[in-house]
Amino acid sequence: QKEREIIENSIRDIKDFPKEGIVFKDITTLLNNKEAYGVLMNHLHNRYKDYNLDYIAGIDARGFIFGAALAQMLGLGFVPIRKKGKLPYTTISEKYVLEYGVDEIEVHIDAFGEKKGAKVLVIDDLIATGGTANAAATLVKQTGAECVECCFIIGLAFLDGIKKLEEKTKVYSLIEV
Ligand code: 5GP
Repeated sequence: QKEREIIENSIRDIKDFPKEGIVFKDITTLLNNKEAYGVLMNHLHNRYKDYNLDYIAGIDARGFIFGAALAQMLGLGFVPIRKKGKLPYTTISEKYVLEYGVDEIEVHIDAFGEKKGAKVLVIDDLIATGGTANAAATLVKQTGAECVECCFIIGLAFLDGIKKLEEKTKVYSLIEV
């Protein structure tokens, strides 16, 4: 509980970003706070050390920061799930709906190794509508791997994204607001 407080207190609310009416959760103040960042990474390490995972997959772009650090702590490989057009090798991609329009993320077809059924943890900083994470979990499954859980530092509970994602995979969000 003390851990959660330290982490929560290090996250800053920015009103009207990126547009009017939106309160943006700014995690840069968590990252540049060595105590909070350390507490967070230790918490995630403790949670996942006995999951027998094979890979950590981070969602573009803030999921890379937590995912890559966690992968190293757990002695695992890291896989980036990227916005369309950034990955150089053969990819599979998945579209998802935004408030206005659609977006698309993709992953390398061979990212989770040759054997089927690799155990993958998907991680991102925040879940809102769940559209991004849902597409990420779908991509992991399409490669033949298993999405063991989706992990978020922050869950926006009022948007129902977590509930929807729970129909597909396990979900963990450290701080729910
Ligand atoms: P969703 O697809 O669940 O609606 O949106 C989640 C995605 O948008 C995540 O990749 C997350 O990084 C980004 N996002 C949306 N709102 C915020 C916010 O308030 N703060 C941060 N840090 N990221 C956000």
